[in-house]
Amino acid sequence: MPSVYLDNNATTPVAPEVAEAMWPYLHEEFGNASSVHEFGQRAREAVERARAQVAALINAQPAEIVFTSGGTESDNLAVLGAVEAARHRSIAGRKHVISTPIEHPAVLYAARMLERRQVDLTYLPMGRGGVVDLADVQRALRTETILISVMLANNEIGTLQPIAEIGRLARERHTVCHTDAVQAVGKVPVDVEKLGVDLLSLSAHKLYGPKGVGALYARKGTRLEPLMHGGHHERDRRPGTENVPGIVGLGAAAELAAQRLEEDTRRIAALRDRLQAGILERVEGVRVNGDAAHRQPNTLNVSFQGVKGEAVVMALDLEGVACSTGSACASGSVEPSHVLTAIGLSPDEARGSIRLSLGRYNTEADVEAALEAIPSVVKRLRALSPRYAHAGTD
Ligand code: PLP
Repeated sequence: MPSVYLDNNATTPVAPEVAEAMWPYLHEEFGNASSVHEFGQRAREAVERARAQVAALINAQPAEIVFTSGGTESDNLAVLGAVEAARHRSIAGRKHVISTPIEHPAVLYAARMLERRQVDLTYLPMGRGGVVDLADVQRALRTETILISVMLANNEIGTLQPIAEIGRLARERHTVCHTDAVQAVGKVPVDVEKLGVDLLSLSAHKLYGPKGVGALYARKGTRLEPLMHGGHHERDRRPGTENVPGIVGLGAAAELAAQRLEEDTRRIAALRDRLQAGILERVEGVRVNGDAAHRQPNTLNVSFQGVKGEAVVMALDLEGVACSTGSACASGSVEPSHVLTAIGLSPDEARGSIRLSLGRYNTEADVEAALEAIPSVVKRLRALSPRYAHAGTD
């Protein structure tokens, strides 16, 4: 069991305060929030309290929060639901959507589904820094553009996109603007008014809440077709009996995030910067991926020349340090990360990358332990790698 957890972008531990808030709703407070009796009323009150807590974290109105099963569902509801609801806006039967090649699969695959439904997609070009250029958004916009979906923070490299500026462009064109803020909420200030977005996805388990619950912010007046059909829950946008303990957990996590954001951010950024500086100092043949000036405070993605990221991750796991690669394992072969290849890394460079993501419960001792383990692991793996020997002599 690894003792140092540096994979907070995959998921975060549930905060003790959150678990405590959820506990009664797994026990005596088991009511269905739609029931009229007292059990139901207490569950309804808890759901509405959580709605207000989530709204407060992102400066929204409670009525603009739709609870979902997590970030994936929120993204699908936003992308598919907004396009489906824009039937009236197609021009000569054409609809156009703008997104990026570095989105999470929850947006990317929803966008591919749209392409199968004859919607035109433009994927904005990506430079080496992994940040969208506004001029490209301007160029991509068409009369028939009905949706722009660009993530706020990237899960692999941590880059932050200029969503406020994109939101402004979208508003000028009466185009719906969605942002996947799953990796941003709780890590950087997120204010839907300042961002000017219509739809924003978030997920509890990335901010010290439970898994399997999230929310979609939908600005008042935004047309959205539900993905599923059933009861009248969540103002007809998301049917199904509410996950009351999960929603209570998300609410508690949101309130805690609002209280701790400034302090957490400062502390975590200092730890991440120390980790980055230590790696650059102690290991040669390393590059940091993603524009460091536009990056969330907890994420560090590095490529080590001549080694495979999976091998580094596995060796670090044996040393008691948990982190991850950006690669996805598909049918037994390891595909290079779509994010790293989109920002211009070669497949080999992309395969040599690992992601270290810090969180609220990391300490200086964790960073020291990682800095002890990483150089020796990389050195050992390079000694076994014919590719690294070549890299020096080519
Ligand atoms: N969007 C981003 C940017 C993510 O990082 C993730 C999870 O890794 C998701 C969406 C999906 O969220 P969930 O795990 O709650 O479905």
